[in-house]
Amino acid sequence: MEQIVYVDGAFVPAADAKVSVFDRGFLFADGIYEVSAVLDGKLIDNDSHLARLERSVGEIALALPETLPRIVEIQKELIARNGLIDGVIYLQVTRGAVIPRDFVFPKEAKPTFVMFTTAKDIVNAASAKTGIAVKTMPDIRWARRDIKSVALLAQVLAKQAAAEAGCQEAWMIEDGQVTEGGSSSAFILTQDDVLVTRENSSAILPGCTRKAVMKLAEERQLRVEERAFSVSEALAAKEAFITSASLFVQAVVTIDGQRIANGRPGPMTNRLREIYLEFARATAV
Ligand code: PLP
Repeated sequence: MEQIVYVDGAFVPAADAKVSVFDRGFLFADGIYEVSAVLDGKLIDNDSHLARLERSVGEIALALPETLPRIVEIQKELIARNGLIDGVIYLQVTRGAVIPRDFVFPKEAKPTFVMFTTAKDIVNAASAKTGIAVKTMPDIRWARRDIKSVALLAQVLAKQAAAEAGCQEAWMIEDGQVTEGGSSSAFILTQDDVLVTRENSSAILPGCTRKAVMKLAEERQLRVEERAFSVSEALAAKEAFITSASLFVQAVVTIDGQRIANGRPGPMTNRLREIYLEFARATAV
């Protein structure tokens, strides 16, 4: 089946989609993106992603080209046109294309708005059963990581280094503490059963899955602490895991080749994955 993408008001075959070489997303990474999961053709935790989209565009003084209800309609139409059952839907808005290239915001630019879908079996991913290996990397990103900007070169380099080391994710380190994963939020479960994840600030992206998992854990009387943790604390933990829209909850079983506990996904991680899945299915739209 030919892939259909959305570009500025039109649903077109991917091979025919066009964005200008003068687009500011391409030239300056002057744009914002979001990724929502899709299960059984329905959007997962999408309101949370759209709320973060609104906040991100606001932080860079970029107006959304469509209302949020219209964005949801477009997402649903694109899912239907591609017959997407399970996977993710990606959307990106940039400050548009204007000639000549100039750093200053152009007055006349019209935002560029694109969406595409990717099929992926999130629920039955093999790595959810085995857990993943992470490699630590210095966090060399900019100081506004709370904005979901398309400027992802630091993460590209970190995740490439992780892949070359046979790992599935990079954990970014700043001042001796883990900030987050290259494209995920980082959690540990301490020996006394406290769930720890770094507090939201400009040092990390406020993960939508992180937020949902924290709420689900607290509702089940689990103690959650928002604070930074080090790699040595993670290695001494009972369990560790990452969260993201495209993975849900996945165990971390080694860091730089060193095992956490017995090197297998822990029971709390497995339980939180199940609980998140139940939440996802129950709230899908
Ligand atoms: N942190 C970073 C840097 C990310 O890129 C992502 C997702 O892409 C996340 C965390 C997880 O966020 P979410 O759960 O909203 O997908």
